[in-house]
Amino acid sequence: MVDRVLAAVRTAPSTTELRELDMPELSDDAALLKVEVAGICGTDVKMYATPPFGDPVIMGHENVGTVAVAGERFKQLHGVTEGDRVFVEHYVGCYNCEWCRIGEYRHCEATDWRTNPDARRYGYTSAENFGTLWGGFSEYMYLPWNAVLHKVPDGVTAELAGLVTPLSNGIEWALIAAGVGYADTVLIQGPGQQGLSQVVACKQAGASKILVSGTAKDKARLELALDLGADEAIEIDQVSPYEQVMDHTGGRGVDFVLDCTSRAGVGPVLLGIDVLKRREGTLLIQGELAAFPDFPIKRLTEKAITIKSARGHSYRACELALAQLASGRFPLERLSTHKFGLDQVDRAIRALAGDTEDADVIHISLMPWLGKDS
Ligand SMILES: [Zn+2]
Ligand SMILES: [Zn+2]
Repeated sequence: MVDRVLAAVRTAPSTTELRELDMPELSDDAALLKVEVAGICGTDVKMYATPPFGDPVIMGHENVGTVAVAGERFKQLHGVTEGDRVFVEHYVGCYNCEWCRIGEYRHCEATDWRTNPDARRYGYTSAENFGTLWGGFSEYMYLPWNAVLHKVPDGVTAELAGLVTPLSNGIEWALIAAGVGYADTVLIQGPGQQGLSQVVACKQAGASKILVSGTAKDKARLELALDLGADEAIEIDQVSPYEQVMDHTGGRGVDFVLDCTSRAGVGPVLLGIDVLKRREGTLLIQGELAAFPDFPIKRLTEKAITIKSARGHSYRACELALAQLASGRFPLERLSTHKFGLDQVDRAIRALAGDTEDADVIHISLMPWLGKDS
């Protein structure tokens, strides 16, 4: 095993340095992952510009790779061995609390950086902590005894494997949280990697009408939404989006609205409340808005609308996402539009934010070994 590791380290807001770091020491209950692909999502864009903690941090929280070295105890605990290909959740649960016991690691205090300044979470935890390699923008990543692993089925390519996180979020939010099912009608707002993943989840669950909305800039993404099984694409800067939804639903509106827009302000939520015309609809929101002046709570309660929160994924959602990727049922590989090496982390994050010349970006795979032999 080599004793130095190359990693892209965030050293300050919007600043990345390639650094050679010491390989961490491994106890019997720990392991080392050779990172194959780290997916990049909207959270990275936010965290890169405004880090929630002090640097240095190795970002990268959607990680897939191969177990390179593992202690005996680690192998026993996780049922894996060297050479196994795994998806590593970014949550590092305590395995003991009520949430961990039911596979809801995302709610565990030990990994929640919002309430626990000493939380461990891939892509967030400082490299100054024991283990150093706490993110996927690195050749190797540290796996303590309480990392949460999922085996990646054979035949799932690296690019496809990079989609586990958005797809597991899609399954968690649309199906498990909101409860989209057979013959339901759905409006998915925003055709990015997250919105497109919701399309697949809703289609698989049997929704009878899936509408996806975006802007004129989203043309390619909206076309892909149709190829993935959406019934109608709505350009919100053409005709009034409300009218379009009513047209496509015979004036009935939809049963579910899933807001996958990022940084779009109050508009998508207000439209969502409008198009949930029938009573007892469900609105899924991501809650990026810190405040919502004049929130129309009366209209919401009069229609008996339920609000659900989009908040990460459960163990089960990850397993379902991996099975979906392995099935080949949907052309999900088309979501994977760009890949970059370790020396291009800054560009990769800016590309996802739309701040580079890279065109038609949907999902970006950061591949630390891209262009290298081993
Ligand atoms: Zn993410
Ligand atoms: Zn826990």
